[in-house]
Amino acid sequence: MAKEIWVYAEINNGTIAPVTKELLAKSQKLAAEMGGYTVAAVLAGKDNKAAETQLGRLGAEKVYSLEHEGLEHYRADFYGSALAQLVKTYEPEYFLLGATAIGSELAPTTAGLLETGLAAHCIDLRWSGERLNCMVPAFGGKVVSEIYIPNARPVMASVRPGILNVEEAQEKTPEIIRADASFLNDVTSSEEFLGFEENESNGADIETAEIVFSAGRGAASDASWNAIQKLAEKTGGAIAWSRSFIDTGRVEDESCMIGTSGKSVKAKVLVNAGISGAAQYVCGINKCRTIISINKTPNAAIFAHSDYGVVGDADRILPAVLAKLQ
Ligand SMILES: Cc1cc2nc3c(=O)[nH]c(=O)nc-3n(C[C@H](O)[C@H](O)[C@H](O)COP(=O)(O)OP(=O)(O)OC[C@H]3O[C@@H](n4cnc5c(N)ncnc54)[C@H](O)[C@@H]3O)c2cc1C
Repeated sequence: MAKEIWVYAEINNGTIAPVTKELLAKSQKLAAEMGGYTVAAVLAGKDNKAAETQLGRLGAEKVYSLEHEGLEHYRADFYGSALAQLVKTYEPEYFLLGATAIGSELAPTTAGLLETGLAAHCIDLRWSGERLNCMVPAFGGKVVSEIYIPNARPVMASVRPGILNVEEAQEKTPEIIRADASFLNDVTSSEEFLGFEENESNGADIETAEIVFSAGRGAASDASWNAIQKLAEKTGGAIAWSRSFIDTGRVEDESCMIGTSGKSVKAKVLVNAGISGAAQYVCGINKCRTIISINKTPNAAIFAHSDYGVVGDADRILPAVLAKLQ
């Protein structure tokens, strides 16, 4: 086994995913605590040159670069086979991926091929002095369980994006290892790449926005929802929602949902409107600096997680705030 912590470098539209940066910084910190470990990034693609040096700036001491025509577009089975073979060749002890849409599929696919252990959707990784503990929320976020993988190697973990509070990594000049990708000529994929369609953006990204307005079931009326949209537009904020808000039919998908099965936000200001404060929701907001909640029920659980609470009807309060801003 090589004393290496690998980080899968996820590239979207030529850009390194923010979670890769978070994982490289975290790995540097872990490597220092563990002693004698090297932080390496793993790149898979058709042409990796541009990303290779960038990964050094983000803290990678080594970059394993796998280039092949078949890696031009992500396909779970093909990428999984590529990563599994790379692991078999270089035998790292730890392998971390972001729990993004791609990582949440690629991590178990690769772990399955390697018959190793994977801690999925972690919110933190901690070195105990003897083992790597992977912190994973359980029972809808009510408890955080400590998972470690005693025997199988590599230890694999996927970590939720936007949740690691890490300093910038120290810049490195990475050693580039161009891995032999010829074995991929014999790998067949059951998936065919047909095309790439970008999701129409509905404004700022909730994971990086400084101001987030989040709508719950109690803010699904025209009055509240229109005000939330205008407030976001006026302040350059992002719009998020709870699970129950989707159930109202106002929005269709989980792309901006906060919570255990959604995203985590770390806004400077988060405004919750008509949200009760279920454990599955609040575990996605605890990194926000200032939390303001509007709820008509005085003892709503959300108030225990808020810096400011407004007891009242969101249908009246949100338009009033908008009018004040205008
Ligand atoms: C395994 C599992 C995973 C889950 N994952 C998630 C997740 O990732 N994210 C998530 O959000 N949920 C998740 N849930 C669901 C979660 O348990 C809650 O049901 C959900 O968060 C509730 O959403 P809500 O607060 O919008 O709605 P509700 O709980 O219905 O609360 C609505 C609130 O609005 C208030 N209200 C009503 N009208 C007004 C008004 N006019 N003005 C002001 N306040 C008003 C009410 O007092 C109430 O507090 C999960 C559940 C399970 C079991």
